[in-house]
Amino acid sequence: MSLDFDTRFEPAYGQAVPIADGVVRLTANNPSPFTFHGTNSYIVGKDTLAVIDPGPDDDAHLDALMRFIAGRPVSHILVSHTHRDHSPLAARLKTLTGAKTVAEGPHRTARALRLGEVPALDASSDTDFVPDLAIGDSGLVDGDGWALRAVLTPGHAANHAAFALEGTGILFSADHVMAWSTSIVAPPDGAMSDYMASLDRLIERDDRFYLPGHGGLVTAPQKFVRGLKAHRKMRERAILERLAAGDRSIPDIVKAIYRDTDPRLFGAASLSVLAHLEDLVGTGRVVSDGAPSLEATYAPAP
Ligand SMILES: [Zn+2]
Repeated sequence: MSLDFDTRFEPAYGQAVPIADGVVRLTANNPSPFTFHGTNSYIVGKDTLAVIDPGPDDDAHLDALMRFIAGRPVSHILVSHTHRDHSPLAARLKTLTGAKTVAEGPHRTARALRLGEVPALDASSDTDFVPDLAIGDSGLVDGDGWALRAVLTPGHAANHAAFALEGTGILFSADHVMAWSTSIVAPPDGAMSDYMASLDRLIERDDRFYLPGHGGLVTAPQKFVRGLKAHRKMRERAILERLAAGDRSIPDIVKAIYRDTDPRLFGAASLSVLAHLEDLVGTGRVVSDGAPSLEATYAPAP
């Protein structure tokens, strides 16, 4: 199955881009290899509004959001996960609007930290954010003419949630599924087993299109998510093949299987290989000397 990424995107910083009836997108000016052109915030509703992913703590982006809101009541600020490109602006937006913040929960890692372990994504995690309302799977928040249902999708982050706009076929997929790139899955912040289960979760749904946290729409989402799953399975096979061929370390495996990757992303690639190895060790297909880590050595299970 082929996986076609769509990297066409016009961020239109500072402008509210209409996407669907009662849905606009505002992109923050925080481009990077990890955020593409920047973080997408979405505003839902016409009279009473909801903001999905306010974004990084950025003055210009806050001004753009407030200009579009234009004094209308904002009832909820929904946060997909607690990474610094998504949640920090919630605090100032809440002060200005009085809206209630909603998320699965505060920041946490997918597994308990080992003694002395610093999570790889620590610098990009927002540990200050605590939602007013901790929403569970299928939890609903609603306003004038709209209702948003939480679809918990851990993997990229342990507290990652997507939100379905009821009755429209629109899913705000945040960083779980994006059209321009695969999602970063890096232990201990995220977990490959969770990520794969969250892809299955979306395959079971019948959404029409996704509005991600970075880049443009995911059209034909079922086919795309199947492609993402196949892509990870292919990477898993490639890792098993490298181990069978004698590679024993993550740097050796990365060098062999990420030949076409931007070198700035080698760190992320290493974490992705670690995520696969953690899953492979957990399911008994690979052995490691001690707990799986970037420095550990690995071998096929006997
Ligand atoms: Zn992000």
